[in-house]
Amino acid sequence: MPPVFNPRMANDPTGDPALFVPFFYEKRALIFDAGEISTLSPRDILKISHVFITHTHMDHFIGFDRILRICLGREKTLHVFGPEGFIQKVSSKLGAYTWNLVHNYENPLVMRVTETRPDRLVSCRFDCRNRFEASRPEYEAFPFPVLYHEPGFTVEAAILDHDTACLGFALKERLSINIRKEALDEMGLIPGPWLYELKQALYADMNPETRFEIPDSFCRDSGPVEFRLCELSDRLAILTRGKKIAYITDAAFNRQNVEKIMQLAQNADHLFIEAAFLEKDKDIAARKKHLTAAQAGRIAAEAGAKRYTLFHFSPRYSGCYEELEKEAAESFRLNEPLLRQTLPGA
Ligand SMILES: [Zn+2]
Ligand SMILES: [Zn+2]
Repeated sequence: MPPVFNPRMANDPTGDPALFVPFFYEKRALIFDAGEISTLSPRDILKISHVFITHTHMDHFIGFDRILRICLGREKTLHVFGPEGFIQKVSSKLGAYTWNLVHNYENPLVMRVTETRPDRLVSCRFDCRNRFEASRPEYEAFPFPVLYHEPGFTVEAAILDHDTACLGFALKERLSINIRKEALDEMGLIPGPWLYELKQALYADMNPETRFEIPDSFCRDSGPVEFRLCELSDRLAILTRGKKIAYITDAAFNRQNVEKIMQLAQNADHLFIEAAFLEKDKDIAARKKHLTAAQAGRIAAEAGAKRYTLFHFSPRYSGCYEELEKEAAESFRLNEPLLRQTLPGA
């Protein structure tokens, strides 16, 4: 069985950044950045429960409107995270529209918006029944680096320098639960949503004696059948370290950023990392506070990422985008130490 998450970039590497992360066996997804996301169907967008925005440059945030447009009229709470100043940005976006009718909607959309400050998290609710006026802010400690957690996973964040605060993210599955297919067959059970519920019970460390019912439509013979959680776990599940995905974009190549990226991306199973420029244009990359492909490859190697995906290619390389892939692959292969102490400070 695959891990809980199934990440994919919404666009090719020349398009706007947006990493869509649907869950297996659940109509639910996370999204990291929301650039132009017309490639995502309304069905996909309706799965989104949590939105994590690195920063509000247009190419990372314009898709927020599409999410809002599609979710409006649905009974849903959307959790949206961003960097310092984010509540004001969301407020301004919402303030651009006329909301004279939405308070009557039968299915109210609520957004809980959280901005990440170095020392704390600040959240406001925007409820359509209240014409999306911001509620009074709530403050809580930022248990760095954990920005958000559930029994099955955590999202960690670091505040990177992009000449503005830009968040880097890591999504960590708590543990990987693989199901032994042959054991399913032996027990006469058919895979289905109940496997997701089983995983959730294991993530939540539920009492092993808890009775767990499998609906008859997923039993080959007669059903429904009931097991103790520990029995199902022993017979069906193989527990291993959870998968880790890191998402890094729009970061200057300096010592502080590299230290923070290294922590987020350490031993990632899959690192999604920007590669905006070629190394020959590293001065432009430095001015614009972006990474080059060679820098992305070195970071991926030194972090011990098992695989990486590049994105956010500058259009200046139109017709020769493969150069960016080649350059990153070469520096990933060489795995030269980053010599962080010699990197420029922020
Ligand atoms: Zn940017
Ligand atoms: Zn960008």
